[in-house]
Amino acid sequence: MLLNKLPQHINIWNVCMQAALIATLTITGSKSQTATGDYLVGRKQTSYNPSELSESQFLEYSNLSDKQHLREAIRNILIPRVVGTGNHSIVRQYIVQSLRDLDWKVELNSFHDTAPIVGALHFHNIIATLNPKAESYLVLACHYDSKYMPDVEFLGATDSAVPCAMLLNLAHVLEKHLGSLKTAKRSLMLLFFDGEEAFDEWGPKDSIYGARHLAQRWEKEGKLDSIDMLVLLDLLGAPDPAFYSFFANTESWYMRLLALESRLSQRGLLEQYTSSGVAPRDPTRYFQAQAMRSSYIEDDHIPFLKRNVPILHLIPVPFPTVWHTPDDNESVIDYSTTDNLALIIRLFTLEYLLEKS
Ligand SMILES: [Zn+2]
Repeated sequence: MLLNKLPQHINIWNVCMQAALIATLTITGSKSQTATGDYLVGRKQTSYNPSELSESQFLEYSNLSDKQHLREAIRNILIPRVVGTGNHSIVRQYIVQSLRDLDWKVELNSFHDTAPIVGALHFHNIIATLNPKAESYLVLACHYDSKYMPDVEFLGATDSAVPCAMLLNLAHVLEKHLGSLKTAKRSLMLLFFDGEEAFDEWGPKDSIYGARHLAQRWEKEGKLDSIDMLVLLDLLGAPDPAFYSFFANTESWYMRLLALESRLSQRGLLEQYTSSGVAPRDPTRYFQAQAMRSSYIEDDHIPFLKRNVPILHLIPVPFPTVWHTPDDNESVIDYSTTDNLALIIRLFTLEYLLEKS
């Protein structure tokens, strides 16, 4: 991804903070936020207002985790995986097989495109659903390719091995709880984009190859209307991330994430949380109570955003300091932060999709 229209050498945080429009969000207290109109989904912005998890559901779901599996998934993905290489196929097969083993329906969206330096390439987006016949989907997405960097070994731990592993871990940990989504009208989709990274210099024809192809194809096929919201995970795994609400039409959903983080924190259910220093802006939380009204960050969501698909972009600002350097390897991964974020995203998914009894 890229911070758009900014000279690369300028400090990202400073420029971003100066240039972006930052507004403090009004925290209404999630319990009192009952206006159904606040919760809108899909390109047609229809109302959908799932109730919050009850206390017993919240405690039950908060206890679900498999940290060993998450680490194993990261290890399996954390190899150089540049499009067109043998490793890239190995990682793709690993993702596909892991989900098929959990009884997900997995298909590849394969296509050819040409990239600078390397030439013709065969790309494969991975699309996994619990119910291919559902009417609408919450889509959780990340990219599984790693950046082509001649002469250095680039592993892309935060970019985006950890986000991919978090999605596989979610499918594994929630296997039984998500069973009802195999027949539900509103279901879950996991999307692993290919070719997010530029090969030479980031630009409209050299970057987000998979996302550009898929958004265009689904528009032609009329499938974009079945996306409630695209939640894009990127650059996760380093300590002390700070997230912001980037888009007005998903702000209520962003506030759900913020509320879940608070709820977990109040009950002491987050690991090494109070002492970690957490975010640079408000050091007590990951999800900041601020909106950043700006389109400075280019990423896989852009072709969908341009076609009016609601977007939740879970990317820290500033980016991790190791971004696009050989230091984006296992040593940068903070497993407490990673486990905490994985937990928040799992709870959000359950709250969003599960019918309440
Ligand atoms: Zn990258």
